Amino acid sequence: MAAAQYHTIDLARLSLSSGQGTRLDLRFDPGELEFGGGDYRFGDAGVEARLDVSRTAAGHALRLRFGGLVAGACMRCLEPAEVGVEVDAREVDQPASRDEELLSPYVSDGVLDLTAWAHDALALALPPQILCRPECAGLCPVCGVSLNEVDADSHRHESAPDPRLAKLRELLD
Ligand SMILES: [Zn+2]
Ligand SMILES: [Zn+2]
Repeated sequence: MAAAQYHTIDLARLSLSSGQGTRLDLRFDPGELEFGGGDYRFGDAGVEARLDVSRTAAGHALRLRFGGLVAGACMRCLEPAEVGVEVDAREVDQPASRDEELLSPYVSDGVLDLTAWAHDALALALPPQILCRPECAGLCPVCGVSLNEVDADSHRHESAPDPRLAKLRELLD
């Protein structure tokens, strides 16, 4: 049987009293992330996550942790790439507060939008560059060939004479 998929958590239904806490192990799919012009995602099985919920005097304190491999295209050569990420995010929600810092954008009417929170937290946790390998040589800016598949040092274009320039020289002579 497939593990239950969660998208939202009704915090009120956890029936915690002030000072109490609970831990939920869940599985959900943070969906596709658009990042640096490409689409990145976790594996098809979704993500195993741990959510800690603490009831405070005025609301809830939340901590969400998950990790795994995010897959997509290498930002230099467009070949498949994977990067490991670890997310550890915290939110506080005190519904009666007038202080924006104490109002979580992911909680509305006592319901936590787990998918939206996980999605944003994951975007913040991704490294600035996702590469197929740290030393990826990328694509040749002139002809677009992958420089990982040719000898990058000998792959050059400036040595090839431009036929238009040759013609011009002929005319000038
Ligand atoms: Zn690459
Ligand atoms: Zn080239």
